Amino acid sequence: MTSDDNLYLLHPHSVVGRPTPPVVIDRGQGARVWDVEGTAYIDGTCGLWQCAVGHGRAELAAVAAEQMQRLEFYTSFWDFSNEPSIRLAARLVELAPAGLGKVFFTNGGSEGTETAIKLARLARHATGEPDRTVVLSRTGAYHGVSGTAMAATGIERLKDGFGPQAVDFVHLSTPHGPTHGPAATDKLLVELEEAIETIGAHRITAMIGEPVLGVGGSVPPPEGYWPGVQAILRRHGILLILDETITAFGRTGHWFAAERFGVQPDLIITAKALSSGYVPMGAVLIGDQVIDMLDGTTFFHGFTYNGHPVGAAVALANLDIIEREGLLQRATVLGDRLLDGLVPLADLPHVREVRGCGLMIGITLESNDAPDVVARCRADGVIARGAANTIVLSPPLVITEPEVDTVCEVISRHVRRLG
Ligand code: PLP
Repeated sequence: MTSDDNLYLLHPHSVVGRPTPPVVIDRGQGARVWDVEGTAYIDGTCGLWQCAVGHGRAELAAVAAEQMQRLEFYTSFWDFSNEPSIRLAARLVELAPAGLGKVFFTNGGSEGTETAIKLARLARHATGEPDRTVVLSRTGAYHGVSGTAMAATGIERLKDGFGPQAVDFVHLSTPHGPTHGPAATDKLLVELEEAIETIGAHRITAMIGEPVLGVGGSVPPPEGYWPGVQAILRRHGILLILDETITAFGRTGHWFAAERFGVQPDLIITAKALSSGYVPMGAVLIGDQVIDMLDGTTFFHGFTYNGHPVGAAVALANLDIIEREGLLQRATVLGDRLLDGLVPLADLPHVREVRGCGLMIGITLESNDAPDVVARCRADGVIARGAANTIVLSPPLVITEPEVDTVCEVISRHVRRLG
């Protein structure tokens, strides 16, 4: 099995021709997964942030099977539709911050980024401002890997070697850290004002940002950052696209992180926890103002599996679980417990920072030993994510208190031994 993996599979974000023996995950339940050898792991990352309701939900499998038997798929292009996607769109509008009255479905986050940016640019074109094509983003941002999404991404190593990028993206500084106080916010807002002045507001269509940087290291913004950004953008007529691919549906303790940070974006990108990853599903929520700007314009854009009925049916049942089991509140309570358990590490001389927002935790080391730490944690039954000097945790929202404590104990042990 392992040798066939190495022989036939090219894994995302892996080194070509240098395969490593894979961990072949076989099954999951709650916040745990088991590999084919029967070894159990606490899933400290829930794969790639997707699995809000935990693994092994037979209820979601049953919903998918029922929908597949009734109608596996039919296009939602033009004027075709299906009931699950109609119901899901209505549910999303009901859950979303006020003023986001329409939904465009996708299969994931990169497609969401493509969709949101194309909508924003087309809206400008439709209202007689075709020169507004520039999109502001931030360094450290991750918005996906497809053309426009890669250009929006602000992590340079993910773009190296792919040749010319989509143009018209300007990256501002990473909004680094809640511990950096109001001075950090002021500096970032001044930078934003200056960038708008240099580029010219008449050339800028939108700014895109993750409410909390995810891939960039689980970095919450400094106090007041998002409302400050919003005020500046509004003053210059620039749209705000919030990429909530990771944060929507509970991870920060709210349905949307926009609520937590007190912003009203014009477009919100969602995916991952929308279906908890049981089937690929994403949605872009579109503000009423953008819809008004586009009134009468054809949106020549769409992915074959837009509004997939199986994805929509599963997403509806998944949202029911999040609501019924109070998982937003659990994300807050367990996020605090996880952060409290790890924060003592910040006193170590070789640890630069421990930070968190709901069930998104980041630890920055002084050295690039994060991959080594996570390898040791995995050998001790805890999956964490590590790149360079940063360790990231984002367990399912159903992780239990004892499991949180085990994660803290294992991570702490291996971080301490670096000293
Ligand atoms: N945007 C953000 C904030 C993400 O974290 C990700 C993936 O992790 C994406 C976009 C891309 O999503 P996908 O891999 O589903 O295309």
